[in-house]
Amino acid sequence: MMTDSTEGAILQRDGKTYAVTTRIPAGIITPEQLETIARVGRKYHVPVLKVTSGLRVLLAGIQPEDVSRVFADLGPLAKPETSPCVKFVHACIGTDMCKYGKQDSIGLARTIENQFKDQSFPAKIKIGVSGCPRCCSESHTRDIGIIGTTKGWMVFFGGNGGTRPRFGDLIAWDLTANEAADCAQRLSEYYRSHANKHERTARFMERVGIDTLKSELLTLIPYIPIEKVN
Ligand code: SF4
Repeated sequence: MMTDSTEGAILQRDGKTYAVTTRIPAGIITPEQLETIARVGRKYHVPVLKVTSGLRVLLAGIQPEDVSRVFADLGPLAKPETSPCVKFVHACIGTDMCKYGKQDSIGLARTIENQFKDQSFPAKIKIGVSGCPRCCSESHTRDIGIIGTTKGWMVFFGGNGGTRPRFGDLIAWDLTANEAADCAQRLSEYYRSHANKHERTARFMERVGIDTLKSELLTLIPYIPIEKVN
């Protein structure tokens, strides 16, 4: 229940209007969902509809009195910005549509999106799932990066773009899809328990270090052989 008419929306540069983002797992959208977004855009005279780098649609320039109605009309397509969370799970087209695909990036991204959708964290988390090492979802510079190979999934943690870019640390490899989703969950829970408020995973990993992560978490994960983390 929204207690404020603009809660969950993002105040724009003009200091007057708001933006609302959508939640589109793995970037796969139906004609009906596209029509809903278009209908909302027309109904509330939204001046800008922007497809973002995170595979979402940003509806920008919404009048404050319309925000709660925009959320209501978008229904489950809306993603209120209330607390730091998983901003998006970026998936490439993977084995469904790409000739280079080694693993089903869309299927794993959907699993992970659902897994994280109601979870809060000390800072925002961006996830990239790439179906092969060509890495079209920029997995090396995501908080959690996942890359498919002929042998399974590789998982990276602590990557970032932005003003202080960082490659994520390679955490595990040759994982099944279930193991990769579980590994992402365990890493995020460890981060939630040990990170400072507003500390992104890249800065967290620089402070805590991969050796601490190994000794406190990775050696306890049953599908990661001890020899791989020593
Ligand atoms: S990462 Fe690989 S599978 Fe995914 S779109 Fe790029 S080339 Fe294709």
